[in-house]
Amino acid sequence: MSIEAVMQGMMRTQWMCDGIFDAVCFCRHYPTADDPEKAQCWCRKPKIGMLIDATRMIERKYDCVCPPHLALFVGDRTEDQECAANAGIDFMWAQEWRDTVPDISTIKLPYERYDE
Ligand SMILES: [Zn+2]
Repeated sequence: MSIEAVMQGMMRTQWMCDGIFDAVCFCRHYPTADDPEKAQCWCRKPKIGMLIDATRMIERKYDCVCPPHLALFVGDRTEDQECAANAGIDFMWAQEWRDTVPDISTIKLPYERYDE
């Protein structure tokens, strides 16, 4: 899968969720590797580099502190679950999240939780 296809898929998900995600991240490193899925990178799950990048993006976006322990990692792959565990962040399977969060407008964003 090309980087462009990954980006389009993620932006489509963001659009379908009415822009709920504060950060959309994926590994942009080693795009010329013979098999990008197998390229080793510090930010590829289950390593936690991308979580650190996402946290920094959110902190810059909202000019706030974003404590990782308040995050919820929603994922659909075992490496997502492993990444959350490696970072000490709560994890929820994507299907469970979709089933239990019927109205995305009711979700409290991390920076709102932190301000309370
Ligand atoms: Zn990377």
